[in-house]
Amino acid sequence: MSFPVISPRQKHSMAGSVVDFKNLSSEGQNNYLRALESFPGQAIIDFSALIKNMRLMCSRFAPAQVMGIVKANAYGHGLIPSCLAAIKAGCTWIGVAKAQEALAIRKGGIGKGMCHILAWLANCVWSPYEEMIEEDIDIALGSIDEIEAVAQAAMKEGRRARVHIVVDTGFSRNGFLPEKFEDALFLLKRLSEEGRLEIVGIMSHFSSADLLDSESEKYTDFQLKNFSEFVKKAESFGFKGLLKHISNSASSFSMPLSRFDMVRPGNSFYGYAADYSLGSPQDFGLTPALTLEAQLAKVKDVEGERSVSYGRTYRTKGETSLAIVPLGYADGILRTAGGSNNGSEKMGAPVRILSSSGPKIARACGKVCMDQFMIDLGSPAESLGILEGDTVRLFGAGAGEEKGEPTADDWAKRSENISYVIYTNLSLKIPRLYLNAKKELGEKELSLLSPECVLS
Ligand SMILES: *Cc1c(COP(=O)(O)O)cnc(C)c1O
Repeated sequence: MSFPVISPRQKHSMAGSVVDFKNLSSEGQNNYLRALESFPGQAIIDFSALIKNMRLMCSRFAPAQVMGIVKANAYGHGLIPSCLAAIKAGCTWIGVAKAQEALAIRKGGIGKGMCHILAWLANCVWSPYEEMIEEDIDIALGSIDEIEAVAQAAMKEGRRARVHIVVDTGFSRNGFLPEKFEDALFLLKRLSEEGRLEIVGIMSHFSSADLLDSESEKYTDFQLKNFSEFVKKAESFGFKGLLKHISNSASSFSMPLSRFDMVRPGNSFYGYAADYSLGSPQDFGLTPALTLEAQLAKVKDVEGERSVSYGRTYRTKGETSLAIVPLGYADGILRTAGGSNNGSEKMGAPVRILSSSGPKIARACGKVCMDQFMIDLGSPAESLGILEGDTVRLFGAGAGEEKGEPTADDWAKRSENISYVIYTNLSLKIPRLYLNAKKELGEKELSLLSPECVLS
């Protein structure tokens, strides 16, 4: 084994990272160093956290089956690695929005014997239905045109397509409304009798399960009641034993009645409650899986009042240092995450810096730029022991910004958003690196990961 030679300055730079460099294998060290050289920011994802979160849900929501939701590149956490973690933890189903994502999962090595896959967002003109049927991907049907297109593809393939009926219980997105439902059921019944379609399930989606006010709670109950009526109607057409599923992360935790035969949690798999107003990750026994870090590009001492960034919404006060975090809105950092104190008062998103007296929070100040944003260190950098090149943490697992451990919820709070947006936005330019993959996965599963993304 050859270990790379690290200079004292590089060692100082890496001290703020969640990556315990000296305890990585030489392969892991090389992968980490290559990532640092290829891009000034890293998304470090902990396999153990993903698996722990999913295991907790599988046991908490049993006997309901769990469909791990991995749309949008697994909320930014990496499609194939997240599928592997979900399956390892006990998921029997994987769910995505787009047809192409479902195919990418099969192409990535998640075979037909490993899990069912459901995709619920396709159009009847361009969608690769034939390939989906070949790859044993379940298709969610939400319009008469789509039913016909899938039946046609099934005929060409010479086998039944596995489908789920989507019903609109009040979200007004995909799905049949009550007044069109009978037409759909007549057609589905005929096509299932003709051997074109296998009707596997019936599904819907909540609009307000993550909101705590009484109006929202009433609306969720209303959707639940509608769903039961749709199910009854389908049963009256002879569709018995359908897999019934409507529940997302929020309702799976808070409403046992909503779980039916299967739940579809997404955000909680990645370690967060659906909304920070519902509680912290710890309140739910969850661990955020993704840590976003970057290496400071420049550190500069300033004095007096200086306005920072576009529109001059922030002014420094007194003697301090500004540092540049080399991630901007082109990398997925929200433009609104910066703080302002010039005109309107708003606290900026937190960044954890490692000062010579320990971890400390500095805040994004002024508008986030395209490739970078500034943080106000609050004191001269020299007094804090902060140097150009230092690794800082934007968010990760931990107790929150008050405890010096910022999370994606803190970033959501400071940019009037939800944690989902914070990580799904992260650009593919940011390298994804995985911790504990070797500990959690077998040889065969490990071989499905790109070797250069494995740290440990
Ligand atoms: C995104 C999505 C989910 C998962 O929602 P979370 O709030 O992340 O748990 C479940 N079902 C459907 C149809 C979705 O679009």
